[in-house]
Amino acid sequence: MRLVKCNWCKEKENKESMFAEEKVTEQLNKDGSPRITRKYFHNDCHSLYLQDKEQKEKELKALDQLYQYLIKLHNLDVLDGRMMEKIQDLRNGSIKVKAKKIKRYKEGVPYELMLETYKFIEDRADYIKKTNEFKTEWNEFSYIFGTMVNNINAIKDAAVKRKTAERMNKAIKINQETVEVQVKNSTKKDELDISDFL
Ligand SMILES: [Zn+2]
Repeated sequence: MRLVKCNWCKEKENKESMFAEEKVTEQLNKDGSPRITRKYFHNDCHSLYLQDKEQKEKELKALDQLYQYLIKLHNLDVLDGRMMEKIQDLRNGSIKVKAKKIKRYKEGVPYELMLETYKFIEDRADYIKKTNEFKTEWNEFSYIFGTMVNNINAIKDAAVKRKTAERMNKAIKINQETVEVQVKNSTKKDELDISDFL
């Protein structure tokens, strides 16, 4: 019995009972065949791993969209480390207490919501850029970033209202359908009633 380590929970388990994720590498074995690497998982751990992977890919995509938007907004080639840190801290919900950063992970504002809020304040951002002479790119970035942060709740509230309205519309529609079905059924009954008289 050979024990292998689960790539997700790191616990060792009998190899026979484990799921193996195989990957063909570009390296070759001595006999010339391509070398295959295997990662072992408990079945349950493998689904968790896949979920995590999907989530990370989604995050990356959302971050990329935000990034592309911001370099256009600020007319930059790249966002520097300090700008990225500001975005990451907001995403993670990390906070500074007495100049010491308390790190958290993905507990803050999603990238999609940041982007939506930036779009919401776009006119204001343009106005800010036009009417202020910022000394550095960083000054402009952090000023508009602050405006975005101040407007996140407005967007969040709007989203909640939209969802509630959608739910209510759905409920109304279901009620209408129920009424229609009832009307149909009662019509049928009437027809039957008439035939009873004939
Ligand atoms: Zn496991």
